[in-house]
Amino acid sequence: MVTEQRALFIIFGGTGDLAKRKLYPALFNLYRKGFLKENFAVIGTARRPWTDEHFQEVVRDAIHAEGALLKDTSRFASHFYYQSHNVNDTEHYTTLRNLAEKLDQKYEIGGNRMFYLAMSPRFFGTIAKHLKSQKIVTAAGYNRVIIEKPFGRDFASAEELNEAIGRYFPEKDVFRIDHYLGKEMVQNILAVRFGNNLFRALWNNRYIDNIQITLSESLGVEERAGYYETAGALRDMVQNHILQIVSLLTMNMPASYSETDIRREKIYALKSLRKYTPEEVEKNFVRAQYKAANGQRGYREEEKIADDSSTETFVAGKLFVDNENFSGVPIYIRTGKRLSQKTSRIDIAFKAMPTNIFAPQRLGQNVLTINIEPEGKIFMQINVKKIGQGFTLKNSHLDFFPTSNGESTFPEAYEKLFADALAGDATNFTHWEEVAHSWKFVDTIRDTWDKQNDVLEEYPCGSMGPQASDKLLERDGCKWFYQGKNN
Ligand code: NAP
Repeated sequence: MVTEQRALFIIFGGTGDLAKRKLYPALFNLYRKGFLKENFAVIGTARRPWTDEHFQEVVRDAIHAEGALLKDTSRFASHFYYQSHNVNDTEHYTTLRNLAEKLDQKYEIGGNRMFYLAMSPRFFGTIAKHLKSQKIVTAAGYNRVIIEKPFGRDFASAEELNEAIGRYFPEKDVFRIDHYLGKEMVQNILAVRFGNNLFRALWNNRYIDNIQITLSESLGVEERAGYYETAGALRDMVQNHILQIVSLLTMNMPASYSETDIRREKIYALKSLRKYTPEEVEKNFVRAQYKAANGQRGYREEEKIADDSSTETFVAGKLFVDNENFSGVPIYIRTGKRLSQKTSRIDIAFKAMPTNIFAPQRLGQNVLTINIEPEGKIFMQINVKKIGQGFTLKNSHLDFFPTSNGESTFPEAYEKLFADALAGDATNFTHWEEVAHSWKFVDTIRDTWDKQNDVLEEYPCGSMGPQASDKLLERDGCKWFYQGKNN
């Protein structure tokens, strides 16, 4: 259902990459679909001295609209205003407040404010403090703050950041973005699990043999090298996206599809992550770095990367969620850059039949795959009879493509998340306690690695990671279902 919203957006980092690539197109889609009509305005702020006209041109370019949409683009962009502003300068907030008040009246917004912090987290505390002290938050409407990743670099820094924001904004008004939670196929995890008695009954350690999560990227570090060199794959992908997917896959059934109930169960799942000793980290986690191959340069040859960098660009691991339903089920995860293909996918492998009446024919394993990208689809491997005389079995696919029955294409994650935040629904944002438990889990791995002096493993660009990642599963008699390109 489309409900028109009234809001003033103040985007800190309005000239940045994220704003241009994701935020402006997402807002435009909400405008086209009627979530935003006349009663909204956007203030973009950053230091460089842009005019409103230039800003509106940047916004129009960011949208890439064609044909009939061009008319909408100009009307949409006319709601955008630019305010040159250094977030460290207290006086600048007065100018910002005046502009905010003026636009609030002009567009009859009624005091609803969305503060989007699309800049380095080191500024978040300062911005939150000034929004309050300089009275940019209003008493008339809501005041919500949307925060980008990374939320800290370990538990201690995340806690500090949380306190810096929490001093001025209550948890209910803090919307921490994990854009994977805005992806249609990630949201499908709960639909499949809790909308089908078939899967509800099977979704536990009695029937599931193992779970595999792959978030592979074919790109290297590109223009994010400076940040990535200080973060690495563990912090950049595992702490947030992968552990969020783990929580959705292993949480208990919530009492209702509501923010409070879902968050409660997700927090409980993340709290149940088994913490490893340093010896267990060594046994269960693999890290590696990409090296030159297939015409692509190695990580250490990338710009802004140290020649002797020990930052991992690949992580694989085996983890456990020790709750009632999942205790004993290995969850294999892997993520990395410069792998053979960009893919995000989840494979759920079910246990073998207790007896095989068709022996000596072998029964294929039942595997449910949720493909998040590049193509959103769900498929299930099942054993069926081959057509013809005799009785021969074959392993076949049951496929479901959510977009193939004429339904529209998937909305972009940022569009869905913006719509949720406008509606005040934080179900698909991460609660502080989720962040805290995730960091505590990741910190034990990071601490172990930081104390090791061994040489980092390497993997060739275009592969699916180092051999150690395959061995992690082979040791348990398994293999990665997804083998990269052409799989
Ligand atoms: P970016 O392109 O470097 O943009 C940073 C923005 O901050 C610019 O608009 C910059 O504009 C502004 N800025 C810097 N210092 C400022 C100051 N003192 N006062 C006011 N404005 C200041 O970064 P980004 O890629 O958009 O990323 C923004 C945030 O989103 C980061 O936390 C990043 O980790 C996160 N993120 C980004 C992506 C992505 O795809 N880009 C994805 C996930 C998360 P001026 O130079 O004009 O001041």
